[in-house]
Amino acid sequence: MSDLEANTAKLDGYLDRFTKVGIRNLIDGQDVAGTTSFETTSPVDDSLICSVARGTAGDVDAAAKAAAAAFPAWRDTPALERRNILHRIADLIVERAEEIALCECWDTGQAIRFMSKAALRGAENFRFFADKAPSARDGQNLQSTTLMNVTTRKPIGPVGVITPWNTPFMLSTWKIAPALAAGCTVVHKPAEFSPLTARILCEIAHEAGLPPGVWNLVNGFGEDAGRALTEHPAIKAIAFVGESRTGSMIMKQGADTLKRVHFELGGKNPIVVFEDADLERALDAAIFMIYSLNGERCTSSSRLLLQDGMADGFLKKLTARVNSIQVGNPLDPETEVGPLIHPEHLQKVVSYFDVAKQDGATIMAGGERVGDVGCYVRPTLFADASPNMRIAQEEIFGPVLTAIRFKDEAEALEIANGTQYGLTGYIWTNDLTRALRFSDQLEAGMIWVNSENVRHLPTPFGGVKASGIGRDGGDWSFEFYMEQKHVGFATGLHKIPRLGA
Ligand code: NAD
Repeated sequence: MSDLEANTAKLDGYLDRFTKVGIRNLIDGQDVAGTTSFETTSPVDDSLICSVARGTAGDVDAAAKAAAAAFPAWRDTPALERRNILHRIADLIVERAEEIALCECWDTGQAIRFMSKAALRGAENFRFFADKAPSARDGQNLQSTTLMNVTTRKPIGPVGVITPWNTPFMLSTWKIAPALAAGCTVVHKPAEFSPLTARILCEIAHEAGLPPGVWNLVNGFGEDAGRALTEHPAIKAIAFVGESRTGSMIMKQGADTLKRVHFELGGKNPIVVFEDADLERALDAAIFMIYSLNGERCTSSSRLLLQDGMADGFLKKLTARVNSIQVGNPLDPETEVGPLIHPEHLQKVVSYFDVAKQDGATIMAGGERVGDVGCYVRPTLFADASPNMRIAQEEIFGPVLTAIRFKDEAEALEIANGTQYGLTGYIWTNDLTRALRFSDQLEAGMIWVNSENVRHLPTPFGGVKASGIGRDGGDWSFEFYMEQKHVGFATGLHKIPRLGA
């Protein structure tokens, strides 16, 4: 039996329960079927996976009320106990890592070679924030001449977490683990295109001993369940990962209830390669950062900026490598690029092939669908692009790279900063002072020099401009999920102004 056949057989076993009962909401620790449902299909072969409860404003209201009722007890649960529960969640994720990875592949089209790691990264997210739970409320002592000023942090209350369909499992853990560690309760609305692993994760949390109501799951669409969550008065903050224009809608929807928002949004991230760089390593990194995870990653290096002197040679090698990328069934360990998430997204990505031609770019590799079953496209490389073309400005969110030439550092910087986005940037040079200068002026929340994106959990994650508001990671996550509180204690009998005396 091949690895693909073995994985397919295992997946069938894991999907059986979903096929039988569908995916229900989980509100206050109870399964709730939902009044209506929608169907989720696999991008691998367009087949039906199962039905999913389509959450309504009523479901969101029940979930928000459950989260509000559970909040005081969870907030007051000793931090060490919260830490232990979060570690148990991590243990159970590790135990079910294969199930999570295979279901994620089938639901999203992501290749197993990346998804097995994504499941384990989810466990690591829980462990990292579990260990930080005991110090989450720590504050400062800021003495003045008359007062001992003490600060502490308090969990903000029930929060809404709205996640997208790209690596949905990992991203859900990334948002929910710090919320729980801070002492918040959660209503999670996963993306409608990828509901499977959100359900597994929420079940795991309950199995690990999380009390009912602390973590509620409401499936459904953005315009109804998502919207209702952002408008609900009991929900104090919205942690959102998704498109920039959805972030803008959420900000409007949350205005009446003065929602605190944390946005991780889109990107059109530049990788800038100078002539003096280690070009072999730069080539590997450029390929990895746009073609891994099907290019459906916010931090993908979707714009390749090449200095004139090395551009031709670099593009030649790049084209050969892109043409050799293995496209196939995501359950096959040999597969490097699987199908895109959904026919709608496939249409969006494919539409850019015509846009590129109309705008006068050259398609060096790909630029076409693969087969007519499933959502496959060939890894694509556009060259001879100018910085203002749509393929150089808009987030395509697929295995599609746009190469642009530059003559010198000043031009590279202008091109790199010349989009609405500012999530990540990648600089390749062996000139230290140039790396310092360029990274200082590049408009991005995260920059790697002579490296691909290597996530380190204590560092801040987030974007500038249209790429987001706020930071995750380290202590920054707690800044969002918690309120600062200041208490001043008089240390003597200082003079109090006397009015009307
Ligand atoms: P999306 O914005 O379409 O949807 C994300 C989530 O928002 C879904 O759960 C959806 O149902 C919900 N939603 C949609 N409309 C809503 C509304 N009016 N009110 C409330 N919720 C609503 O994004 P997507 O297509 O699922 O994901 C891809 C996008 O996510 C890309 O732009 C990508 O760059 C971005 N992303 C960013 C990061 C980051 O860290 N910056 C990480 C991953 C993905």
